[in-house]
Amino acid sequence: MNRFVRLLKTHTLWVGFVAVVIPLILMLGLQYFWLGKLEQTSAIARQATLRNTLETMATEVEFFYHAAAERLLNVPSAPFQDGDLNKIARQWGKKPTEGIRRLFLIDYTRQITGNFYAYDQASQVLQPTQASDESLAIVIASLPWQARVREAVSTEAVGFQVNEQDPLHRIILSPVTDDMNMIVGIVAMILDEDYFKKSLLPGIVEKTLTAFFPQESRQNLAVKIQDPASQNHAAHHQKAPARSLRFSFVFTDWAVSLHSQGSSATEWARGSFLFNMTLAVLLGIVLLGGIGLALRAANRAMKLSEMKSDFVSNVSHELRTPLASIRVFAEHLRLGRATSPQKVEEYGEFIEVESHRLSRLIDNILDFSRIETERKTYRFLPTDLSEVVKTVMKSHAVRLHQSGFEVTLHQPDSQLPQVLADPDALGQALHNLLDNAAKYSRETKSIAVRLSRQDNFVMVSVQDQGVGIAADEQARIFNRFHRVGTGLVHDIKGNGLGLSIVRHIVRAHGGTVTVESELGRGSTFFLGLPIPTSPSEGVDHA
Ligand code: ADP
Repeated sequence: MNRFVRLLKTHTLWVGFVAVVIPLILMLGLQYFWLGKLEQTSAIARQATLRNTLETMATEVEFFYHAAAERLLNVPSAPFQDGDLNKIARQWGKKPTEGIRRLFLIDYTRQITGNFYAYDQASQVLQPTQASDESLAIVIASLPWQARVREAVSTEAVGFQVNEQDPLHRIILSPVTDDMNMIVGIVAMILDEDYFKKSLLPGIVEKTLTAFFPQESRQNLAVKIQDPASQNHAAHHQKAPARSLRFSFVFTDWAVSLHSQGSSATEWARGSFLFNMTLAVLLGIVLLGGIGLALRAANRAMKLSEMKSDFVSNVSHELRTPLASIRVFAEHLRLGRATSPQKVEEYGEFIEVESHRLSRLIDNILDFSRIETERKTYRFLPTDLSEVVKTVMKSHAVRLHQSGFEVTLHQPDSQLPQVLADPDALGQALHNLLDNAAKYSRETKSIAVRLSRQDNFVMVSVQDQGVGIAADEQARIFNRFHRVGTGLVHDIKGNGLGLSIVRHIVRAHGGTVTVESELGRGSTFFLGLPIPTSPSEGVDHA
């Protein structure tokens, strides 16, 4: 159990990552599942909507003609029996006859073959029919009923009869019966196909589509009307019909069909599935990206805090060594172990060198803290770099000499131009480079400092023949707290601040710091400081 808790603690970031990723994957899986279901149902729903739309259109057509028939063909038998047929004509005159081409009336009360009348809309009277295609159609449509009249067959209520044998003359007729259920007459109407095609049907299509589909989804719909001659009306470009329905009452040889333009219902559902799924996956990616960034930041913060605690222990170690030396030599002096003046001088030198080392260490820490809090300021003055280099080398000379180093300075014969620099800060950068050169040297204790001019830069390089730096580490050694923790340098003390301070100082001077190094052969650090184009006085610079 304890081991498990420890494992969790050491891999907090991974645990956090997994804790987010697993629900995310689950969520995407569920999303996929439900969207798949939705795809199926929406395909079915869309099919159903298409079917409902068609059925509504067909019902509207049927309703229109049924209503017209109810209005105009539902006539009583009395006018036939009373011989007052114009009463029916007067009734017709009061009612709308939209969609009806002509109204007919056949009276069987006078002649068994029937008297045929056509209704004249203008004068609102009945007139005996003239020979015409229309009257012929009426005669043919009435034949079955005339047979019943002749044979005196009683006829129960038969409702409206549709005769569409001749598509040019579509007839709705209604036999009129007396109390004995004997046919006394027939009222009939011929439908106006033009009205149906040009006015009624487009109106119904428009109304139904508006009711069933919001504006945007109507763009994808095409309605096709198929008449017997199979010419398409109100049709747009279309694929194979999605749904098609014949009219049921009149115009039964006509059909209306609906197409999802460009895509069928299934394709439409598939499209919306893909769209939603893509959206979900994109969101997932964005979320993962965000989590990745957050984890990276957390990782960095953890690393930094690790580095900081390493730093504290490193600094304590580094402070301890010179302090121990100082204490030992001071003790020697106090106990009178220095028997000769040379010994006293030697011990004194040791104490001085070590306390200088302590000062530099503390300077570095203070500087680092100033840099971090952006409080570090520079005082730029026209500076002779070789003077700075010499001063620094002089202060290192005793210690390096004691440790057996050979330090050489190479400089051009001619005087180098002055640079605009803060001598103290530059001195500190050089101190750090020299310290490192000594620290990371092994058997070959040789350090070369070179001064030169390259284009508009004065260059100072510090070369050692020490352990060297691996190529992949060279860019990172300038980062704060970064130490090469492996190989030969493993047990060399340090705090990882020196080079980051060097870089900060050099950048503040508008200069550059680079390194050339080969593992096991030594390193050379180059500082380049720009030569000012016009000589200027010292300025304060943050
Ligand atoms: P520190 O020396 O206190 O560790 P620095 O910032 O001065 O910190 O250096 C960072 C790292 O760069 C060192 O830990 C070391 O690995 C590497 N380094 C710096 N100077 C040299 C050098 N002259 N030779 C080899 N390695 C070096």
